[in-house]
Amino acid sequence: MSQDNAIEKVIVVGSGPAGWTAAIYAARANLDPLVFAGRPKTVPSTILPGGQLMMTTEVENYPGFPEGVTGPALMSQFERQAARFKTRIVTDNGFTPDVSNPDDGHSYSYHDCKRIDMSKRPFVVVGEDDTEYHAHSVIIATGATANWIGLENEQRLARSGGGVSACAVCDGALPTFRDKVLAVVGGGDSAVEEASYLTKFASKVCMIHRRDELRASKIMAKRAMDNPKIEILWNKIPVDVLGDDMISAVRLKDTKTGDESNLEVGGLFLAIGHTPATGFLEGQLELDEKKYIKLAEPYRSTTSVEGVFGAGDCVDSTYRQAITAAGMGCKAALDAERWLADQGIE
Ligand SMILES: Cc1cc2nc3c(=O)[nH]c(=O)nc-3n(C[C@H](O)[C@H](O)[C@H](O)COP(=O)(O)OP(=O)(O)OC[C@H]3O[C@@H](n4cnc5c(N)ncnc54)[C@H](O)[C@@H]3O)c2cc1C
Repeated sequence: MSQDNAIEKVIVVGSGPAGWTAAIYAARANLDPLVFAGRPKTVPSTILPGGQLMMTTEVENYPGFPEGVTGPALMSQFERQAARFKTRIVTDNGFTPDVSNPDDGHSYSYHDCKRIDMSKRPFVVVGEDDTEYHAHSVIIATGATANWIGLENEQRLARSGGGVSACAVCDGALPTFRDKVLAVVGGGDSAVEEASYLTKFASKVCMIHRRDELRASKIMAKRAMDNPKIEILWNKIPVDVLGDDMISAVRLKDTKTGDESNLEVGGLFLAIGHTPATGFLEGQLELDEKKYIKLAEPYRSTTSVEGVFGAGDCVDSTYRQAITAAGMGCKAALDAERWLADQGIE
């Protein structure tokens, strides 16, 4: 099913900080962007239009909000700003031309992009209902999802600001975690990084690791073991998170004996990796071994396919912050605009 004969100048896929920023810049450059904002999902992990910040309460490090802002409020502002410049969004009702008040309880759902045929231009961008859209350029900003254990209370407390987080750099400095015993789940380099970072604020950090050896590189493992504030709990997996409004303990199971015990903590941080949302692009453009989109040039947003640009956490396994994602969204829109101009498409 083809949408019509129109060829979009740019289609943006994703509605996190990278996607909405790309849309704002593209719209202000008169590129009339069309956005696939994504359909909410809870399996394998929670994915929402608005992106990962929809899963967090306080955002204290996004510049321009000296008192902090909740993740959903911040993303609502992004969307509203994109709407102000007439960004169109693919929904159940066709294109939504004006979402100037996205909090208004809309009765339609945003759509996923199912696949993109990048083998020829214009690209064919296929929506979840098989409608085909044609586009001269595409900006991919589909982000990544932090991997969660998948426990009901873990998800509940993560969403309510109850002391469960998947980002130590984002949340570790919040007053609620100060001088508390904190737990980090994971045994890789990022788990050690997160645990070391948290020792700045915590009275003690317990790393919960399911094996009897860290997966982290030798140098990182040594860093964890040499840190007097870090204790590693070997052969343990979390099987429940306890606490009503605020986490009080993690229930641990010993992987060797099967014994269960409670570890009293004031915060739980998941550091068991991220999964970039790039599955729908496989075979179309180059991904790295962890499935992040490979950029063609450092500091740019160009990819292995001319006319396709990447931005945010789906290209970045290093920084993973809202501000860096927004910056990359801006770069992608500027790169797309310049590339379209070079093609004679204004
Ligand atoms: C719990 C938590 C707390 C955090 N706190 C902070 C913080 O305080 N400060 C900070 O700077 N950063 C924080 N981060 C990190 C920050 O959220 C991310 O770095 C940022 O959201 C990345 O933006 P993005 O636009 O690249 O991707 P995302 O925010 O992941 O957004 C991706 C978007 O793409 C959509 N999508 C995916 N696939 C498709 C598809 N096929 N079709 C259409 N749409 C699709 C999704 O629905 C989503 O809207 C936190 C992260 C987590 C998990």
